[in-house]
Amino acid sequence: MPTISKSRFKNGLQCHKLLWYTYNQKEDIPEPDAALLDKFEQGRLVGEYAKKLFPDGIEVAKGIVDFAEVLPASKKAALLLKPMFEAAFEYAGAYARADILEPTPGGKWDLIEVKSSNEIKKHHYHDVALQKYVFDGAGISISKCYLMHLNRGYVRQGDINPPKLFVKKDITKEVENILSEIAPNLKTMAALIKRPTAPDILVGPHCSDPYNCPLKSMCWGFLPKNNVTELYRGGKKQFELIKSGILKLADIPDDFGLTNTQKIQVGVARTGKPHINVEGIEKFLASLKYPIYFLDFETFATAIPLIDNDRPYQQIPFQYSLHVLASLDGKPVHYSYLAEGPIDPRPDILKNLKKLLGSDGTILTFNMSFESGRLNEMSRDYPEYRSWYETIKPRIADLIVPFRRFAYYNPDQEGEASLKSVLPALTGKSYSGLNISEGGVASLEFVRVTFGQATAEEREQVKKDLLIYCGLDTEGMIDILRVLARMSNK
Ligand code: SF4
Repeated sequence: MPTISKSRFKNGLQCHKLLWYTYNQKEDIPEPDAALLDKFEQGRLVGEYAKKLFPDGIEVAKGIVDFAEVLPASKKAALLLKPMFEAAFEYAGAYARADILEPTPGGKWDLIEVKSSNEIKKHHYHDVALQKYVFDGAGISISKCYLMHLNRGYVRQGDINPPKLFVKKDITKEVENILSEIAPNLKTMAALIKRPTAPDILVGPHCSDPYNCPLKSMCWGFLPKNNVTELYRGGKKQFELIKSGILKLADIPDDFGLTNTQKIQVGVARTGKPHINVEGIEKFLASLKYPIYFLDFETFATAIPLIDNDRPYQQIPFQYSLHVLASLDGKPVHYSYLAEGPIDPRPDILKNLKKLLGSDGTILTFNMSFESGRLNEMSRDYPEYRSWYETIKPRIADLIVPFRRFAYYNPDQEGEASLKSVLPALTGKSYSGLNISEGGVASLEFVRVTFGQATAEEREQVKKDLLIYCGLDTEGMIDILRVLARMSNK
């Protein structure tokens, strides 16, 4: 009988097909990408800070993954009756390793699961329930179950303060409520793993809930171009359509309940021509006032705050690109900023922008909640800029509006209204071929060369790549505006 570990159990709760592959065809599961590896590393770091709350704690078989070594080491460590980190036990075909087990005066243990999130999520309970099932069964009787996650209100000042960094919540009741599901789930999973072929499971919301499934590119590969998963705010509809055998947008029957924007998508898929609502575009253009300031931020957000006045996962701007356009056909003037070294970039950014954004004209962003959110937070953390932010707030506008409202829609956008989808569809310009071609990579690369280990050459290269990438965002916004303006003149 296969032994089911905690991570495999989580795979199995998400999808039986994924579970089957992890045991039978692991070679088909892609290696984690840089973003996922970074997430693992951030989780590891959070775990290290959590251990500091238990100064007399014992590391059990640190860095060892082989059950055969970890299990006896855990049994031996348990005899010392001290907090244990990463102790593992096995019971009824399941295996689990606890972040922290703390002995209680009554001869039992408290189970503490450490999460690098800012809140408790429902799937965390299942994770802890499996552990309680295994440990109780193995003779490590669990008294209380706790979940320790990051405190979103923690503000770093100087060294990290572990007692303030975490929030510890008692989830014993929630875990007990689902404990009876563990044994039947394990039984079903054990039988499934032994099947000669993978179960036939159709794609659905479970492919990204609670995690993005690594097999998505394989399982979703049967979908043709311009398929029903591109439906804007498609929700359950897209999966209902797939279930009924309708895969292409163009094949959705006219009497299927679609929203107006979804009907536009279907029409565009059938004709292959973009949808243009000149009136909608003109209305948007009329709301802008020159000079227009095209603004874009790049940010980093880490589980453990990297600088003072930073909170877990707060988005800290480290770069901006600003193009200023005095008139539609005028020559744009470009300003940019990129933080040098592990400093707090926000005072410089605020000081520069206060000067550069002037007192009149639209500040144009793409998806304004992001840029407005950052300006709002920066002026909260540096209150001397609060009144300035209040004065520029009404000037901030969003170039995504005509695309979100479907005043313009091109089938090449594939149901998206983001800058990365609109720019190539509308202007033919693209980010492909750039060393840094999306915000997540920009953030990882900046943190790596600024706060981590990197050579001077690497730093220089990343700096160049970041300047090109962020500059293209605001340059691209000018191109988009000009194409929209040409459409409105027709
Ligand atoms: S992509 Fe979806 S259907 Fe395929 S294994 Fe993952 S969760 Fe299951």
